Amino acid sequence: MTAPHNLTIDGERLWRSLMEMAKIGATEKGGNKRLALSDLDKEGRDLFVRWCREAGCAVTIDAMGNIFARPKGRRADLPPVVCGSHLDTQPTGGKFDGVYGVLAGLEIIRTLNDLNYETDAPIEVSVWTNEEGSRFAPAMVGSGVFAGVFDLAYGHGRADLDGKTIGDELTRIGYRGDAPAGGRAFRAFFEAHIEQGPILEAEGKTIGVVRGIQGIRWFEITVTGAESHAGTTPMNRRKDAMLGAARIIDRINNIALDFPPGVSTVGLVQVSPNSRNTIPGTVFFSVDLRHPDDDVLLKMTAKLETVLAEICGGLGLAFVNREIWWSPAVHYDPGCIGAVRQAAAELGYTHRDIVSGAGHDAGYIARVAPVGMVFVPCKDGISHNEIEDASPDDLAAGCNVLMRAMLAHAAGG
Ligand SMILES: [Zn+2]
Repeated sequence: MTAPHNLTIDGERLWRSLMEMAKIGATEKGGNKRLALSDLDKEGRDLFVRWCREAGCAVTIDAMGNIFARPKGRRADLPPVVCGSHLDTQPTGGKFDGVYGVLAGLEIIRTLNDLNYETDAPIEVSVWTNEEGSRFAPAMVGSGVFAGVFDLAYGHGRADLDGKTIGDELTRIGYRGDAPAGGRAFRAFFEAHIEQGPILEAEGKTIGVVRGIQGIRWFEITVTGAESHAGTTPMNRRKDAMLGAARIIDRINNIALDFPPGVSTVGLVQVSPNSRNTIPGTVFFSVDLRHPDDDVLLKMTAKLETVLAEICGGLGLAFVNREIWWSPAVHYDPGCIGAVRQAAAELGYTHRDIVSGAGHDAGYIARVAPVGMVFVPCKDGISHNEIEDASPDDLAAGCNVLMRAMLAHAAGG
């Protein structure tokens, strides 16, 4: 069956729930600190589980502490249409990153309850463990284990700086569940999230139809010249590694500009011997290249090699370029992307296609299920910050789009 056209969520109730959750781990500057599997994370999880049970959901916890809340559906034999995100935050995090995607799912369940609307395929709301990667590295480990990217022993073995592991902390807070982490089919997975960037706000668009996550390649480059006296070495006899690095860094900036919407960053530089009157012998720096299209990312990488050879060759320098990480671009499911776009259009919201600059649980779930994401604007594009903000109207709009896309996927056998 298709969704009734007048079906909308209660934006005020969604906002109240967000503000209620934000009281747990509230920080002085108006943000949140609920580090994964801390006492405050447990409190947040407990509140969510209580709300879900009050809404008539069956709640399942898996071995990674991922939470799944399912209201009654007509066809329990069908794989569910799932939405969700995370409740953990950065140490100085905001009220919306992750939490919005979880509580938008709860609001959808409450809305359907109000109307006695039972979906064909069941729907579920999920909470993924340790998305932020702040207390335990790496990020998105709960969804990663679920999707088979990491095995369970690896997930349980991740330790914080005090040596406490995810497995032990899950047991301590009572969220080491019986259900297997993964091995279960989803009909589709949708994640609603604040954009965490400035594009939607700048263009006055309410909904971002997320096409995927951009690819990332990390390099470590060492440029080597010759250390020598800064006063006695004539300019034409120098092998200045710093001069080489400076020119390379400038060209790396151009690599991104030449391949829009690519981005490039040199965020870490170490100079040796780092002495003011010695010409630098070696410079070590990091390069972060990102682009939504893996083929273009390959071209950016090739360009980086060309730049290194050209500039080092011209200055008599040597270089070593080591690639340390490559995360290919994630492409979401055309059917799910289409459902989000169509929902935004039918509801009359301004929208545009967008590629996520940040990682999300949906990126891993995309390996095992059809996935789509809904972005809403956040104030000044700021996230991972206590002042992170979003408007109640935009949050309600994103929730309406999420509901419509989910109902479209849950309809029929
Ligand atoms: Zn997030």
